[in-house]
Amino acid sequence: ATPTAVMVATGKGASQGVLIKGGNALEKAHKVKTVVFDKTGTLTVGKPEVVSAVPFSGYSMEEFCDLATAAEVNSEHPLAKAVVEHAKRYRQKIGSHTKHFTEVKDFEVHTGAGISGKVGDATVLVGNKRLMRACKVPIGPEVDDYISKNEQLARTCMLVAIDGKVAGAFAVTDPVKPEAKLVISFLRSMSISSVMVTGDNLATATAIANEVGIDKVFAETDPLGKADKIKELQMKGMAVAMVGDGINDSPALAAADVGMAIGAGTDVAIEAADIVLIKSNLEDVVTAIDLSRKTMSRIR
Ligand code: ADP
Ligand code: MG
Repeated sequence: ATPTAVMVATGKGASQGVLIKGGNALEKAHKVKTVVFDKTGTLTVGKPEVVSAVPFSGYSMEEFCDLATAAEVNSEHPLAKAVVEHAKRYRQKIGSHTKHFTEVKDFEVHTGAGISGKVGDATVLVGNKRLMRACKVPIGPEVDDYISKNEQLARTCMLVAIDGKVAGAFAVTDPVKPEAKLVISFLRSMSISSVMVTGDNLATATAIANEVGIDKVFAETDPLGKADKIKELQMKGMAVAMVGDGINDSPALAAADVGMAIGAGTDVAIEAADIVLIKSNLEDVVTAIDLSRKTMSRIR
């Protein structure tokens, strides 16, 4: 495209809340045949809420909620915020104050799996089955049952392990964005297919994909795995766009032909992306591709 055409199009994009970082991004977007969506915070609102909490292994509700909260306090992950918020509400309900722990020590983020740390004398893990397996925490049939029941309801489960035992579990819901379904069907009408990549488990991911009309799901992928999926799709000769909020998907945003960051996402995402969707509205995925198509067809 000519510099003038690029300037006009980027200006037009900006006025609609679609920030296009230069001519290259604009030129590539019209070729996109597949859009890969991250799940949490991209297809979903990204404000998960705890809807169920159950203690296991003889722990009390308070014990496992408090230790999970203490461990999650430093995590930026929306799931961590849900845990902290839940514990606060629970404490209010039973009319007691949140227990004050000494700061979490040896805090570690296990990307796409959960977190760990030491709270007082207790070693605390909060995360998915994969994290428990990696840390050799056995998962009994009772816990397994709780997980599968909730996953079928499109809920994500978080397990809390204290000193090597599952002490409790949370189930969270994160509603899909109201525009998600329409955007995916609109993309289909533009001959663009939609795919989901997520670090979440397959059952939950599939339930959400069904809700929005996506039929291809890559679940349980870590950040580099997400980028690999992008590369696999590119190897089939397709131009691929990736839409994400940057929590665990910055490498994928960088690997895609066109990386689109959700405006409400992380700074890393905004940096890694070619296009920023300022309003965090998925309709702007269509706006961006459409703008590129119109600009490029005017030139040829
Ligand atoms: P998504 O791809 O849906 O954005 P992530 O890759 O961020 O999901 O996370 C994948 C999974 O890892 C979550 O579904 C959850 O099971 C687990 N997880 C990640 N971070 C945390 C955390 N801070 N606390 C508990 N679980 C977590
Ligand atoms: Mg995300």
